[in-house]
Amino acid sequence: MTSARTRERLINRLMDNGITNQLVLDRFRSVPRHLFVQEALASRAYEDDALPIGFGQTISQPLIVALMTQALLEESDGSLRKMQKVLEIGTGCGYQTAVLAPLVATVYSIERVAPLLQETRKRLSSLNIANLRLRRDDGHRGWPGQAPFDGIIVTAAPTDVPQNLLAQLAPGGRLIMPVGEQSTAQTLLRITATESGFVEEKLGKVAFVPMIED
Ligand code: SAH
Repeated sequence: MTSARTRERLINRLMDNGITNQLVLDRFRSVPRHLFVQEALASRAYEDDALPIGFGQTISQPLIVALMTQALLEESDGSLRKMQKVLEIGTGCGYQTAVLAPLVATVYSIERVAPLLQETRKRLSSLNIANLRLRRDDGHRGWPGQAPFDGIIVTAAPTDVPQNLLAQLAPGGRLIMPVGEQSTAQTLLRITATESGFVEEKLGKVAFVPMIED
C-alpha cells in the first residue's frame, strides 16, 4: 500500500496536473506521507485526497501542496528560487513543511493547536528535518521577530489577506495563500511584493480549513 508503485501513481497524477518541476516532484517521491496520517488511514496516504488528522484538521491534498510549493519557488525559466527564510502558517501534521524544508534554507512554521504541534515536532524530528523552527501562535500575527521572509505559505484560509503577512514580505518576496469566506468559495492567491506595490495572481479554486483568530 505504500509501495514504490503506489507512490509513482501519485507522481503521475501530479505531472498530469501541471507539476513540472523535478525537484518538487522528487519531494513527493521521498516524503513518506503514510507517516503523517493515522495508521488506519495509511492505505489511503498516496491517494490525491485530503485526509483527517484529528483536532478537526486535515492533511492537504498532495496536488495542492505541490502547486503551492511550485508557485512559491519556481522562476519563469523553470529553476527554483533560492529562499533563505520561508514562513509557513498552519503546520498541521507537517506534510507541507517536510516537502518544503530541503528546498529552502530555513522554514519558520506557526500552528494554532498546541497538541497537534507537539506531535508534529516529534514526527519532523524523527524524519531528520532540522532546518526548522516551530511556534504555537495565531498566524495572523506572522513572526515579526524573524521578518522579512522571502516567501510565506499559508495552509488555512482567512477571509481577507492579513496585512501583517504582507508587511513581513521581503522585496520580491511571494505570499501563497487561500482566501475566502467558506470552504466552497476560496481562491488560491500568489501575491508578490514588487517595487511598485503588491501584484496579485489568482491560481485557482481551493478548499482549506478556515484560518481561525485566537
Ligand atoms: N499544512 C498542513 C495542512 C494543515 S490544515 C499539511 O501539510 O497537510 C491547516 C492547519 O492550520 C490546521 O492544523 C489548523 O490548526 C491551522 N490553523 C488554523 N488557523 C490558524 C491560525 N490562525 N494560525 C496558525 N495555524 C492555524
